Amino acid sequence: MNLTAESHRVPLSDGNSIPLLGLGTYADPKKTPKGTCLESVKIAIDTGYRHIDGAFVYYNEHEVGQAIREKIAEGKIKREDIFYCGKLWNTCHPPELVRPTLEKTLKILQLDYVDLYIIELPMAFKPGDAIYPRDENGKMIYHETDLCATWEAMEACKDAGLAKSIGVSNFNRRQLEMILNKPGLKYKPVSNQVECHPYFTQPKLLEFCRQHDIVIVGYSPLGTSRDETWVNVSSPPLLKDPVLNAIGKKYNKTAAQIALRFNIQRGVVVIPKSFNPQRIRENFQIFDFSLTEKEMKEIEALNKNVRYVELLM
Ligand code: NAP
Repeated sequence: MNLTAESHRVPLSDGNSIPLLGLGTYADPKKTPKGTCLESVKIAIDTGYRHIDGAFVYYNEHEVGQAIREKIAEGKIKREDIFYCGKLWNTCHPPELVRPTLEKTLKILQLDYVDLYIIELPMAFKPGDAIYPRDENGKMIYHETDLCATWEAMEACKDAGLAKSIGVSNFNRRQLEMILNKPGLKYKPVSNQVECHPYFTQPKLLEFCRQHDIVIVGYSPLGTSRDETWVNVSSPPLLKDPVLNAIGKKYNKTAAQIALRFNIQRGVVVIPKSFNPQRIRENFQIFDFSLTEKEMKEIEALNKNVRYVELLM
């Protein structure tokens, strides 16, 4: 695939398209000063990013929305240049909650629509104010919902123009099949956002999704922030990998740039998170070189089939 910064979008099954590179925006709210996300999104837009990945549960969606609106007001971009992905949280799966939840996100963003709205995880938690509802013994309280009914409510959001495209996240093949085989399916999920990087290359899911025209959006494409509260740090740091660093040397690129290029070159969208101006720019410099077939194979062979993000809840 010959990719340039100008043509770095991939088509979606509903006729829309998604930029291959987006800015991830998850950062621990307790450790991140207010306004950091706002500044980072603005720097990203100035750098050329047009895709921003966010969520209500990242607690900084208001800053993302403000950054987008400020850049529109400056005349730097138009709304239609930006691709924003929002997410439906686990406590909001009952169908009657889906549209009001998206409307709440739009109110926080102060935007009229999101470009992509995805079901963040396939399992549901008890609806209510607690994001992680737990019983008196500290056990998570799950909630029985029908994912297909949730999906129908997502379809209604697309029909209402509140989301241009709809998709899923952290779905396995069985969960995807449940939606794809749903009687009366109106729209297929256009994408599935899952962990994907050289140590977790997702060969089987990638092949299944290719067959069904579902784009894989790779999260934690740099191997996460290695925050021990939610990351399996027993798996070694991706960016220290000798193969990624050796290939990087050849192209005068960093291991991070090689890891990102590997994914976009095989059609996997990447959403690296950085709130550091220099690294935001570094992660964008992946369209001016390409990896050989041999190098792609060498990187594929790094797969350890081990997740950093185990989602133990
Ligand atoms: P990531 O993008 O793999 O890594 C982020 C970490 O790498 C941060 O600590 C960042 O620090 C650092 N970093 C960024 N660029 C770098 C570079 N060029 N060199 C060295 N270090 C660099 O991890 P992630 O945040 O887990 O995943 C990315 C995004 O995916 C999230 O922000 C979120 O939007 C999404 N996500 C979705 C789900 C889901 O369930 N759907 C789960 C996890 C993540 P600095 O900020 O200091 O640069």
